[in-house]
Parts: sequence; C-alpha cells; structure tokens
Amino acid sequence: MTNTGEIFSRERLIEMLSLHEPKAIESLFGLAKSIAYETFLGDVYMRGLIEVSNICAKNCNYCGIRADNKNIQRYLMPIEKVEEAAQFAFDNNLGSVVIQSGERNDKAFTDYLDDVIKMVMRISDGKLAITLSCGEQSEETYRRWFESGAKRYLLRIETTNIALYKTIHPNNNKHNFSHRLEALTALKDIGYITGTGVMIGLPGQTIADLADDLLFFRDLEVDMVGMGPYLVHAETPMAADEAKLLPIEKRFELSMKMISALRILMPDINIAASTALQAIKPEGRMLALHSGANVMMPNITPVEFTENYFLYDGKPGTTIEPTEKLEGIISDIRKAGFNPCFNVAGNPPHFYRTQQTV
Ligand code: SAH
Ligand code: SF4
Repeated sequence: MTNTGEIFSRERLIEMLSLHEPKAIESLFGLAKSIAYETFLGDVYMRGLIEVSNICAKNCNYCGIRADNKNIQRYLMPIEKVEEAAQFAFDNNLGSVVIQSGERNDKAFTDYLDDVIKMVMRISDGKLAITLSCGEQSEETYRRWFESGAKRYLLRIETTNIALYKTIHPNNNKHNFSHRLEALTALKDIGYITGTGVMIGLPGQTIADLADDLLFFRDLEVDMVGMGPYLVHAETPMAADEAKLLPIEKRFELSMKMISALRILMPDINIAASTALQAIKPEGRMLALHSGANVMMPNITPVEFTENYFLYDGKPGTTIEPTEKLEGIISDIRKAGFNPCFNVAGNPPHFYRTQQTV
C-alpha cells in the first residue's frame, strides 16, 4: 500500500492547501483519487443517515439547532419511526446507518438511544452496522452504547486551534476543548472505530490551522473523518461574522483540498463526502469522490423531521422523500464512475491495520 503519509511535513501541507493554479489543484485531486483507488478500488461505502432528534443542550455558536434557537420545532423521533427508517436502510441493502442528534446527556435520552441501537440490531439480525454521532457523553454511556451494538462513533473536534475553538463556542464548561478531546480518546479506548473532523473556512481560521488539523487526525490515528465547509445559519451568533468569511466557492475548494491532502496523509481511512458540500454545489459530494472521499451518507430521515434539522442554511433535499434521494444518489455515484457498495459494513482498513500493530 502507498505509505505517503509520513513524508508530508506541515510546510508541505500548507503548500498543498494554498495551491491556486487550477492545473496544480486538479493534479492534487487526481493524486488523492488514485490513492483512494489503490485502497478501495472505486468502492463507495454507503450509510443511511437518520437524524433522530434536533433537541440539543448545547449552544455552539455556529449551529442552527443550538439550544437558544427558539425558532425551530424540536423533535425526538418516536422509536417506531426510527425503526421504519432503519428498516428502509436494511431493505435497500445499505449495510450501515448513522444515527445523529443534538447532544443530550440526560437519562431519558441515553436510554432512548440505547433502545434505538438495540432495535437496529434486532431488526437486522445484527447485520446493519451502526455509527453514532450524538456528541460528548460519559465514558459509561459510550461503553453502554458500544455493548448494545454501536461500533463506530463520529465526534468532530471542529478545530484543533484552541483559541479558535473558544471563539466559536460559548465560554463555559459545557463547551470545552479538553473535554472533547478526552471524549475522543475515550471512544478509541473503548474500541470504537473512531471518526472526527473539522469545519473548513471558519471566521479567523488560517491555512496553518487546517494543516494542523490534518496532522492531528494523523497523530490521533483516527479511522474516519467527516469534514466540510462551515456554512452560516442566520439564527446563530456567528451569522454576524459573515463578512469575515472566505467566499463560498473558495470554502468549497478548500474543503476539496483538505479531503485530498488527508487522503494522501491517510490512505486507508474512511473519508465522508459531507452534505455541506452538496449545500454549495448540487454535485459537491460527487466532486468529493473525485478528490479522495470514499463514503456517502444519503439522508434517510423522514421528511417530516429532516425539515427541522437545519445545522446551517441551505441544507439540501429536505423536501425530497428518502426513496427518491437514495435512487438519485446511487445513480449519481455510478455515473461518476464509482461503485456503491451494498450489504457491507464498510469499515475502514485503517482500523484493522492499526489494531493489529498495537
Ligand atoms: N451534536 C453532535 C452531532 C450533530 S452536529 C455534535 O455536535 O457532535 C454534527 C456536526 O455538524 C458538527 O460536528 C459540526 O461540525 C457540523 N455543523 C454544525 N453547524 C454547522 C454549520 N453551521 N456549518 C457546517 N457544519 C456545521
Ligand atoms: Fe448541538 Fe451538535 Fe449543534 Fe453543537 S453542533 S449545538 S452539540 S447539535
């Protein structure tokens, strides 16, 4: 396997992320795509994304479902509705679901999520792999959910620049960089296939910050990364900083460069083509595949709920039924020359390789 990761210094990463000649950028994307091909042979792992609740106890300054946003209808999907969505994933041979929600640490929610995990295991006879994306939880909760059947967890670090982290979150104990980092290491220690990620194009974020983010992923030996452009939500404190942002096209391009640079650094991890890319360009997620991503997460949340799950403005596909969305995405992946994989968990080779060597 290509082991390109180690030869890249921080300076080299900064250079890569700063490329501005269209031809040079194209070659970067091409190199990343060919490295992804060496590992995945054109396969794209599929996950059905279910946004089970938009109730959140936190107040991240960028996020549309933060607790202080009073202008949305809050929901917790009844377990039968989650079951229908999981059954839909199973019937459509998706192999895997991502369960995402706002962050809540209360017992009613951690019990609910545990029931959701057990339900998915039951209806699929343990065949649907589960990734959770439900924020920071106690080690005990992480362990409980792991034992119930969830084996992958996504927790974005958001940015590894601690000063920047502080500016995009309220300054209190609930929004604490060290706690988030501890949560990530707890997930790894428990045995989760662990994913993280960052937002790209945050106000005040530099190219050097992004290079450090990439080195952080490598040093932490994460198995999966989901990262995408930061997008404004009008009902958030950070909407006031809109004038400080890179133009949206540039944020898109920078996100693609981040995907490519990461693929070169970490050839055998899973890298998601994030929905936020599609919010900028309809073909955004396909372009991500051409830049080194290998995971696609069609949103299969029933329309009645997903229309209230707005992390940022312009979220795509909120009125399109899951069936139609899934058909569209499968056909787009094939048209882009890739192979959508069915009935596989789609775990990253990196996880198994690093497990064996430690
Ligand atoms: N509550 C959980 C999971 C849901 S939020 C958590 O915070 O981990 C999932 C991700 O959405 C966050 O990690 C963040 O990176 C992303 N997100 C939130 N608001 C966003 C915005 N305005 N633009 C782009 N991404 C955003
Ligand atoms: Fe809540 Fe996650 Fe949004 Fe923060 S990013 S407000 S934790 S849903």
